[in-house]
Amino acid sequence: MTHPAPGSAASSPGTTATTPTPLPLPLGRSAISRDAERRAQEGLVATLLDEASTRVLVVAAPHVRVTAPDALDLRPAAEVRDEPGEWFYLGRDAEHSYLALAPASPPEIERGATPPGWASLRDAGHLLSDGEAGLATAAVALSAWRRGHRHCPRCGTATVLTESGWSARCERDGSTHYPRTDPAVIMTVRDGQDRLLLAHSAAWPERRRSVLAGFVEAGEGLEQAVRREVAEEVGIEVDALAYLGAQPWPFPGSLMVAFHGWVADGASPQPRPDGVEILRADFFTRDDLARAVASGEVVLPMRTSIARVLIESWFGGPVGD
Ligand SMILES: [Zn+2]
Repeated sequence: MTHPAPGSAASSPGTTATTPTPLPLPLGRSAISRDAERRAQEGLVATLLDEASTRVLVVAAPHVRVTAPDALDLRPAAEVRDEPGEWFYLGRDAEHSYLALAPASPPEIERGATPPGWASLRDAGHLLSDGEAGLATAAVALSAWRRGHRHCPRCGTATVLTESGWSARCERDGSTHYPRTDPAVIMTVRDGQDRLLLAHSAAWPERRRSVLAGFVEAGEGLEQAVRREVAEEVGIEVDALAYLGAQPWPFPGSLMVAFHGWVADGASPQPRPDGVEILRADFFTRDDLARAVASGEVVLPMRTSIARVLIESWFGGPVGD
């Protein structure tokens, strides 16, 4: 049996594969060079803080400073250079070098804070330009890593940032530690009628429906994780899989790896939610989903998420707001 290639969203199993189209991934974008070879340069951050063209993004994961819902507050280095905190070199483009500053004493930020001021990357990510989305995602990822990993896992000594913020060293035993990324799989489950499984998790707001997802376990491959999660959460066996793409989800350190998955044998099995993590799960036709979203019966995940991208990839275009 053949299956549609990524991008042939409205196709069903059995049709001819079309040219894959990259998924539009809100947090998987960038337009600057990460300039990794420069990170090891001694005193790089101090050097850049003396340059008029350097811009600084203040970050307190998952929040960044913004001037508007779709624009980062990228401040000249002279305005913030004396603030206490930890610095990260994000990279450069033709005009600027970019640093992130995680203040030593981040302010209390109210949930749902609106621009100008602080905005959560979850809310702002899809609104930013490619360049600013890349800067903000890297800044939040580094800030979140550093917040949760301040001591050496071998001996417990406090570590110091090295490589312009991209690693941390234990000065007692000399070990070096890097930002951690935890892979998670996220997948559509499509039945023999090309309906999409949408679940409701106990952890979500009322009426939220989305695709299934879960962390990859130790010693497990991505495809194994997809099949295990779907079986555990809704009791369905997934057969063919198609890889779609991946985007960072630095809340605090995930990489979301997306697949389309098809129910074995083109069947339309009855989902059996596990009742613990997943409370409801149903197959939707495209008409079902359009109606449910329009009536407010179903609320889809936020536009920054790869879940929303996956759902709309199956749907064949934007759905809802
Ligand atoms: Zn140590």
